Amino acid sequence: MATVEELREKLRKPLELELAGGCQNRAVAGGMDRLLMNLARPFPKVREVLRDYAALDETGRADKLREALALLQPEPVTAAPARRAPARVAPPAPSADTQVPPDAPVDRVNFGPQGPKKLRGLGLHTLRDLLHAYPRRHEDRRALPNLVDVEDGQKVTVSGVVVSKNRRTPKPKMLILEVTLEDPYGQRVKCTWFNQPWAEKQLSVGSRLIVTGRAKRFGRSVQIGAEYFEREDDAEGSLSTARIVGVYEAQEGVSQDFLRKAAHTALTSVPLDDYLPGAWRRQYGLTDLADALWGMHFPTDEDHLTRARERLRFDEYLFLELRLLLQGEDGVLLGKRFLADGRDIERFEGSLPFQFTGAQRRVLHEVADDMRSEKQMARLVQGDVGSGKTAVAACALYLAVRDGYQGALMAPTEILARQHFKNLAGYLEPLGVRVGLLIGAMTPKQKAEMQATIANGLIDVVVGTQALIQESVRWANLGLAVIDEEHRFGVLQRRKLLADRPDVLVMSATPIPRSLALTAYGDLELSVIDELPPGRTPIETKLIQDTHRRQAYGFVMRQIREGRQAYVVTSLIEENENLELLAATQLADDLKVILPDARIDLLHGKMSAAEKDEVMDRFRRREFDVLVSTTVIEVGVDVPNATVMVIENAERFGLSQLHQLRGRVGRGSAQSYCVLIAGEHSQKTRKRLKIIEGSTDGFVIAEADLKLRGPGEIRGTRQSGLPDLQLGDIVNDVDVIEDARALAKHILAHDPKLEHPRLTYLRQELQARSAHVAIREVI
Ligand code: ADP
Ligand code: MG
Repeated sequence: MATVEELREKLRKPLELELAGGCQNRAVAGGMDRLLMNLARPFPKVREVLRDYAALDETGRADKLREALALLQPEPVTAAPARRAPARVAPPAPSADTQVPPDAPVDRVNFGPQGPKKLRGLGLHTLRDLLHAYPRRHEDRRALPNLVDVEDGQKVTVSGVVVSKNRRTPKPKMLILEVTLEDPYGQRVKCTWFNQPWAEKQLSVGSRLIVTGRAKRFGRSVQIGAEYFEREDDAEGSLSTARIVGVYEAQEGVSQDFLRKAAHTALTSVPLDDYLPGAWRRQYGLTDLADALWGMHFPTDEDHLTRARERLRFDEYLFLELRLLLQGEDGVLLGKRFLADGRDIERFEGSLPFQFTGAQRRVLHEVADDMRSEKQMARLVQGDVGSGKTAVAACALYLAVRDGYQGALMAPTEILARQHFKNLAGYLEPLGVRVGLLIGAMTPKQKAEMQATIANGLIDVVVGTQALIQESVRWANLGLAVIDEEHRFGVLQRRKLLADRPDVLVMSATPIPRSLALTAYGDLELSVIDELPPGRTPIETKLIQDTHRRQAYGFVMRQIREGRQAYVVTSLIEENENLELLAATQLADDLKVILPDARIDLLHGKMSAAEKDEVMDRFRRREFDVLVSTTVIEVGVDVPNATVMVIENAERFGLSQLHQLRGRVGRGSAQSYCVLIAGEHSQKTRKRLKIIEGSTDGFVIAEADLKLRGPGEIRGTRQSGLPDLQLGDIVNDVDVIEDARALAKHILAHDPKLEHPRLTYLRQELQARSAHVAIREVI
């Protein structure tokens, strides 16, 4: 896309030449009129100044040229443009008699006979929906006449007169229309239409065309594969040519033209009252809503588009943050106030076979500070697999118990709950803490007994699954709740547990980039354990092509002969459990042939929790060597003797997922390995997999993954209520997110229910954008 600056430069040169040459109207082939029609197209003021150039005398011409050149001066580069309220171009005001409110259904406005139906098919029900259905990208269709500079494959717009036309049918059902255009400089360019018979009528010799398409360079000449064109006589005032054009999400049977016209109609029909009061717009250097919406759909130039994006992106985060804050409970929550005695931390550490790492100690102090304060703790402890989160959580639970409170640890699955139970019992029972387990697989009698024990306060720490919140568990005195792998729980479930107002500690092994954590876990403070315990040998990772599969399994066999065990993971197949089971079974059978001496067993998603537990237990007891599994191997499962992780069809996994899986090995002191077996894959995928091969740093990987896949994948977004951001790029928007969050906090601190008349539009917009969440009840 040519920048404004480049276009300006291209226009400036011939004008300067003309001025230097004595204003003979000769510097430009075809005269100044030609120039105005093309190069000057993006600069309406210049066109205006030079309009009757040919009719002027030489002095008049010189004056006009100087005036035009002054208009084309490059804009001074300002050092810090961010915080200035940007200039705006006034859009056409909607005429009073046609105005409809933004929440009106699309039938209220004339979108043509099938219009409303088409729009609804795209999920656009109201005019507001339409206004905020932004183009996916923008194309620069301002005329770019200098073909010398056009690169192969570049998308360009050219304009000129048709000087010749040719029609070929090299094969039946194949029609190639070729047209040679001559532009105002006398440059010729060939444009081709492939199988577009309807275009033929319009391509007559002598007509003026504006053609947009991809350029193909043959030495010095350029050919353009037409994708879009208009006759120039039609183009005046057109929404689809000779400007920066928005390209919308495509859908069968709905043309871009239709969508552009619909957006234009919406923009001119709805009063674009700004929901963001002017003072805040100025504070954050944002343009007003009308300017932004016009700029997003029909930018006058790059600057317009930029400030439109800035404003609308800010809005996305603002409404997201408002919603997160409103979903949280009101005001400062009072939690438990613990003594959290430093001597108890020392006592806990003294009972461990190791010392805390610096990072663990730092996080533990952040946690203990929260526990001492009367505010309810809501803290996310984030750390790579094996970084020692559980040890930190165990210490926090110990502090709670020392103060006479009970503690809970909630895990997403039964396997994990059992494992945590084992670990916590190991940490805490030597210190006299009573630890219990409550999971769905227990008999009703066992459950009832455990519940009674909890209610009587006869147990100090209980580890469980969702059973902890689903069953009617009454606590004698719950003080601290630890939630493992929070992203598997919905925010709502977390809230249920919070009915007792305990302090809350969430542990997550998914390394979440700060910007994402800020938004996705809006209501949690963040602590990061960014250091692994000493003495870990980093896992060696190797990426291989599936043609070398046998060698890979040869290596697995050697490890087995040394007494080690291996995981082999196969990918999820389109979430179809039957196919998945089939694939896993087939893989197990394959392996029995490739590894005849190994004992192989299978774990898959169709098994009951008890069956899975049974397989995992046997694996832990070393009753077989190779565990073939679909991706159901749970994050956090601990089998220290397993030193090899083979991942089949690695190309189908996300990076963070691969990293999590790899974390299943390397849990003992022996050197561990991860083998990524990749099937057919693209260069891009290869780049992705190379990142895993080259790094064991969860944060580096998460950032890379986020960049490659977008934020949706990293955490169950539907659960968290994090909506799709149209404009937001969560990796790079930390500053915007922080600004939006600050403003959201400020707004709600002063007006928690958005009742002030000044905020009426803001409240309406928030309600409209939150239609799918239960925010209407809050405000
Ligand atoms: P996470 O919960 O982050 O996966 P864990 O707390 O389960 O990590 O710790 C992983 C393993 O490392 C456990 O076997 C634990 O005993 C051990 N461990 C934890 N902290 C340390 C430390 N500071 N030094 C040595 N080993 C540690
Ligand atoms: Mg753990």
